[in-house]
Amino acid sequence: MIPPFDYIIPETLEEACNILWEAGKGVGVIAGGTDLVIGLRNGDHSPRLLIDITRIPELRKIEEQDGRILIGAAVTHSEIVSSPLLKKYGKILSDAASVIGSPQIRNLGTIGGNIVNASPAADSLPPLMVLNAVGKIVSREGAREAPLDQLFKGPYETNLKPHEILVHIGFEKLSSVMRSSFIRLARREAMAIARMSMAVVLRIERSSNLIKDIRISPGAVMPRPQRMPEVEDFLKGKSPDEAILKTASQKVSGVMVLTSGVRSSTPYKAPVVEALFLRAMRSCLEDRG
Ligand SMILES: Cc1cc2nc3c(=O)[nH]c(=O)nc-3n(C[C@H](O)[C@H](O)[C@H](O)COP(=O)(O)OP(=O)(O)OC[C@H]3O[C@@H](n4cnc5c(N)ncnc54)[C@H](O)[C@@H]3O)c2cc1C
Repeated sequence: MIPPFDYIIPETLEEACNILWEAGKGVGVIAGGTDLVIGLRNGDHSPRLLIDITRIPELRKIEEQDGRILIGAAVTHSEIVSSPLLKKYGKILSDAASVIGSPQIRNLGTIGGNIVNASPAADSLPPLMVLNAVGKIVSREGAREAPLDQLFKGPYETNLKPHEILVHIGFEKLSSVMRSSFIRLARREAMAIARMSMAVVLRIERSSNLIKDIRISPGAVMPRPQRMPEVEDFLKGKSPDEAILKTASQKVSGVMVLTSGVRSSTPYKAPVVEALFLRAMRSCLEDRG
């Protein structure tokens, strides 16, 4: 049974920050609760007070500002899927949000919760990594910006302080010449955590057919979300022919093994991550029209 706790629903960010600051230990933030409530049931944590952040206006909107898209941390996966702004400028993120859990989970679960929970298999993280997303974090001490790749310490661990709130995530709009692809592999189509995923953003220069920009982030195969600069640098300036892509895919699995070590699952994961990378690249290339 879940031990009793108090529950506050602040209407402003300032109020939420003040409560978090003053209440001290044993206080937590809750958004959709789809991860947190499981932890409460399992006895992983027993807070005396939970602060529900889902009514704070700054955390609830998706907007465009100075060429950037800002997504409030309490925006749900369903809202991401149906956002016209994201379909246009961050489709890779709405594609990923559309395969999370089930309609019920997507209606409750938030992007902020997906980030702060920091599961290596979280579906929004590889797309956010290739979008170069930056988080805005606020507390009574002030505000700070954190590029997402610096936010994660390890599996289920971020460097967020207990009194800090993730307010929004921002990224530069993907221009129409950029192509993107998110591919996910799970045991079943729905209600299954990703076994592996792959997010790729690609820009090919039309006149030369050379790769000008490439960003790669696999999911669920490394302890924390990260890009693969070794493979990105190898591909930049090259023509994306099959031989180059094959070599790049082997580099992807090489970096995965170097980062995560050789495990019992490596003989399965290495060829599959290569195949996912090739599928994501081919999907971007076909999408060029
Ligand atoms: C049946 C089921 C299926 C699922 N399937 C998937 C799936 O396919 N893919 C996937 O990626 N995930 C999946 N999940 C996991 C979960 O739904 C997501 O991670 C979801 O996005 C979490 O968001 P939430 O709002 O529910 O977070 P919560 O559970 O409310 O919070 C999670 C953690 O984040 C903290 N937190 C939340 N918001 C903030 C904030 N703004 N600032 C600071 N801290 C914050 C909380 O304190 C807590 O520690 C599934 C979960 C279930 C139960």
